Amino acid sequence: MQALALCVRALPDHVRAWSRRRPARPEVATVNDSRTLADRIEDLLPQTQCTKCGYDACRPYAEAVASGAANYNQCPPGGAEGVARLAQLLGKPVIAINPDNGIERERPVAFIDEQLCIGCTLCMQACPVDAIVGAPKQMHTIVKDQCTGCDLCVAPCPVDCIAMIPVTGEATGWDAWTQQQADEARVRHDRRLARQTAERNAAEARAAARRAAASAQAEAPTDTAMAAPAAQPASPAADDAEAKKKAIIQAALERARRKKAELAERGEGPRNTDHVSADVQAQIDAAEARRKRIGIDTNTSDDDESAP
Ligand code: SF4
Ligand code: SF4
Ligand code: SF4
Repeated sequence: MQALALCVRALPDHVRAWSRRRPARPEVATVNDSRTLADRIEDLLPQTQCTKCGYDACRPYAEAVASGAANYNQCPPGGAEGVARLAQLLGKPVIAINPDNGIERERPVAFIDEQLCIGCTLCMQACPVDAIVGAPKQMHTIVKDQCTGCDLCVAPCPVDCIAMIPVTGEATGWDAWTQQQADEARVRHDRRLARQTAERNAAEARAAARRAAASAQAEAPTDTAMAAPAAQPASPAADDAEAKKKAIIQAALERARRKKAELAERGEGPRNTDHVSADVQAQIDAAEARRKRIGIDTNTSDDDESAP
């Protein structure tokens, strides 16, 4: 107990202030709690859903801590106060954030350079809390009050037009983030997961229906009079439409690249991909590979004037 008191005295002022605000009796989890330990850990997490802890979201991290698979010092957005909260719940000593997971920092918000955005929607697909609005081929915008500062939209952007701007002055961790913001982010994240599950189920149902139809067709009598018409190859018109779509995206990328080069010449280039961590670089590489898979060449020469 004395060791714990010494640890608490060594904490930053804002964490000690939080410790003093807590009830005198520590909220240590017991076997009589009706909610699971993972539930109670999750309640204490900041819900930015940033994955910096090494898990897909706050909930899987809470489960990993509850099972002992993860340590309770892996959440940089929660910072030192977040570790102190978990330590109190778990009845363990307060320890430092694991630097391998990142550092406690001022909370940033994502901003999109609307002049560069090509409307590819990759950032929307990456945002864990649906804080980005826009439609295919149209400029996208961040809903500032809903952005958790998770950084996840930065790497997938093919034209590097998203910048993370700190908005909380010197405040970091829980001093830069309220319980209400955490609760709202959690609701939005849960809603997104539910929507994705519904979409996945619907897609699987459609695929199953197609397979059943194909199988019924294969088992049908082969009499030429009864046989169903053979599947038609993709029409030239469909091929044209696909080629046109790729050409439009390629041309937009070219325009964005030229614009980016102009901005860089004026010292106003993107600010967010220099000196990135190994993890973020891996995300950038994965996004690059994905773009190549779907046929978007991001390394074409700027001299290529094939844009329509
Ligand atoms: S806020 Fe980020 S680092 Fe913290 S638990 Fe949630 S996903 Fe993990
Ligand atoms: S807008 Fe970007 S930084 Fe903000 S929550 Fe969404 S993915 Fe994270
Ligand atoms: S990923 Fe970049 S270019 Fe694509 S919609 Fe988002 S901000 Fe625009």
